[in-house]
Formats: sequence, structure tokens, C-alpha cells
Amino acid sequence: MSLNHGRSILAIPGPSVVPDRVLNAMHRPSASIYDGELVEMTDGLLDDLKRVAGTDGFAAIYLANGHGAWEAALRNTLNHGDKIVVLSNGFFSHKWGTVAETLGVRVEFIEYGMTGYADPMRLEEVLRADTKGEIKAVLAVQSETSSSVRNDVAALRAAIDVAGHDALFMVDCIASLGCDRFEMDALGVDVMVSAGQKGMMNPIGLAFVFFNDKADATRVHANPGQYWDWTDRAKSKSFYPRWSGSPPGHLMFALRETLNMMVHEEGMPAVWGRHTTIAKAVWAACDVWGQAGALRLNIDDPARRATGVTTINTDPGMAHKIRMWCQNEAGVTLGNSLGFPPEELEDHFRVGHMGHLNIHMVMGVLGAIETAMIAQDIPHGSGALAAAAKVLSAHTNAEGI
Ligand SMILES: *Cc1c(COP(=O)(O)O)cnc(C)c1O
Repeated sequence: MSLNHGRSILAIPGPSVVPDRVLNAMHRPSASIYDGELVEMTDGLLDDLKRVAGTDGFAAIYLANGHGAWEAALRNTLNHGDKIVVLSNGFFSHKWGTVAETLGVRVEFIEYGMTGYADPMRLEEVLRADTKGEIKAVLAVQSETSSSVRNDVAALRAAIDVAGHDALFMVDCIASLGCDRFEMDALGVDVMVSAGQKGMMNPIGLAFVFFNDKADATRVHANPGQYWDWTDRAKSKSFYPRWSGSPPGHLMFALRETLNMMVHEEGMPAVWGRHTTIAKAVWAACDVWGQAGALRLNIDDPARRATGVTTINTDPGMAHKIRMWCQNEAGVTLGNSLGFPPEELEDHFRVGHMGHLNIHMVMGVLGAIETAMIAQDIPHGSGALAAAAKVLSAHTNAEGI
């Protein structure tokens, strides 16, 4: 006997919930790849993506996931033997560095740990010590999806400037684009990578790379090969080279629909503000649950938390029990433990709260977690849902945390 009927929900930090409007936009026959809609819509997709990213620079779309965006950014800017610095504070920021190593790039990791944010002072020291100017690029994530820390991109840029260093600044916004405020040009970011399936609410399959003239100038030195070269994708006037082959028609219709929603209907400040409120509601619930001891937020300082994902630490084994109960009994799939030591595999879970959400979805996920704790005698403070409701009811579109 189970109550688990009805529609299930994926509350993981990507892929996120794809809006029905977006699903419906794809429900159609394949469109011509010679002329017509697909050809006509490509410019608009790139322009609107640049509005989401806050840049007047260039945008390139690849048929790939986030790993493809990582590799594209690296292949267009770096070559064998180049040296870079990677600011590592979790699974994804570290992995981007290891991908660079597979391309023969020499990587210096600055490790901040699973609860640390990327301290700009340490970056400044490393750059100052590079008196020969060997370091070609600094890589960082805006929001690290494993630990749910949010780095201060502006402060990292300032550290590079104060050190007087010329390295490219490359930022991974795969989990944060369309969640945390990010304006590429204003932040002085040279390359930004993202993907479709998180804050951008698309099915998996599109990778986005944004770059400026400074980054573009390194491409000749880098020799990216045909498929990963960003030149035609960003600049060609003819259609086929722009996609380096057949275009992903259905995903283009999906992206068109999400960009309509984000850029033309809701507007980016409202998108960011909504994510802030929802994140605060999740944190408020966690704070109350944590009063009885078994569970706590991974990132202490609210100003350093991502707004699209929350990592929760529990007493040994409890995260796993909560996650499994939610999945099997409540129709809610929560994010797993990622990037922590293997012996802690069952002691962390993550809640994805990015993209297409409303109050009943957020409260439903929180309610499922609470039910899982009640069902399994996991100690927790009471009143968490009321605390979340209070935050949601006071939503004002303001972003500041
Ligand atoms: C999800 C994610 C990635 C990897 O994206 P894939 O599509 O799984 O390749 C990289 N970086 C961050 C910050 C992410 O959240």
C-alpha cells in the first residue's frame, strides 16, 4: 500500500523541471534545416542568450552538456603546456581543472574545501607570485553545485586586477545562469560557460559559451579543431557552419520558449529575485529542522549560498534514508552527495530549487522531506514549513540576501 501516485518531481540541481510550455514547443515535426524557421531564429537565440548573460560579446551554442561547454572554453583559449589556476571548492570546479589536464594544460589547484568559498586573497597571492606571467587563465565556478557555495565573482575579478595580472578569467555558470545574478561584462569575465538544463529550464543537450575579444584573441594559439572552434558558431553569417552541422531543431524551439519566458516576459531581475526568495524559504525550513540537531546547511553564511541548490548535511546515514524515502514513497527525487569523502556518501543530500518552480512545488518538496523524517524517527525541529511559508508570503522580488 503506497500513497505514491500522482506526478513525481525531480528536485535535483539539474536537470530541472522543464515547463510544459517548453515541452509543447518541441512537440512538432522536424523543421527544415535548409531554410525557414530554424535559419531565421538563430540570431535571436544568440542575442537573447547574451541578454541572459549580460554581455555584448559573443555567444556560441554547442550540442553538448556542461562538460562540452567546459571543453569548448578550454580548447579555444589554451594549448598543451599552458599553465592555469583553478579555484576548487567542490566537485565541479575541480573537475573542470581535471578536464584541462586531459588537454595537456598544467593546472595549479587552489583548494578551498567543501565548505569554503573561493577566497580572493589567496588568488591574489598566487597571481602576484607569477612574476613571469606564466598563468594563462583563472577558472572558477559562480555556484558550486556540490557544496552549494556561491563564489563572489566580482571580488575574484578585483583580485586579478589588484595583482595586475593579465590571465583570462573564465567562469562556470552552469548551475547559476538564470538563478544567481550574473552580468558578464560588468563583472569583467572573459569567458563564461553554461548549459541548458539547470536554471535555463531546457532538456539536456545545449551548451553555451560566451566570450569577449580578449579571449577570442587566444584562439589562434589554441587551435581548437573544427567542431569546438567557436568562431563560426558565434560569428558566421551562414547557417550550417553556425551549428557545425545539423542544428538541434527541437532543442532550438525549446530554448526559444525559455528565452521568451525569461527575457521577454519575466525579466532577469525578477528571475533572480524569485530564486532568492525560494532559496531563503528552503534555508528557513532547514534552520528549523536543524534545531533538533540531526541536520544542518553545508554553507553557514547566507551571503555565500547559491540560490539554485542547497546542500544539507546530516548525522551519519540519515541523508540517504531521507532521500530514499522521498523517492520511493513521496515521488520526490532529491540530489545525492557529491564531492564529499566516500565514507560520507550517505550523510549529505541536495535540494535543487532552480528554474520553473512555484509555491506548491517548493512546499511539496519541503513537506516530503519533513514527512520522510517523521516516518523514520529522524529528529528535527517543528515549524519548518511555517517558516518557509512566511518567507514565501513576504516575496518582494528583492535579490539581496
Ligand atoms: C551540472 C554542472 C556541470 C556539469 O554539467 P553536465 O551537463 O552534467 O556536463 C558543471 N558545472 C556545474 C557548476 C554544474 O552544476
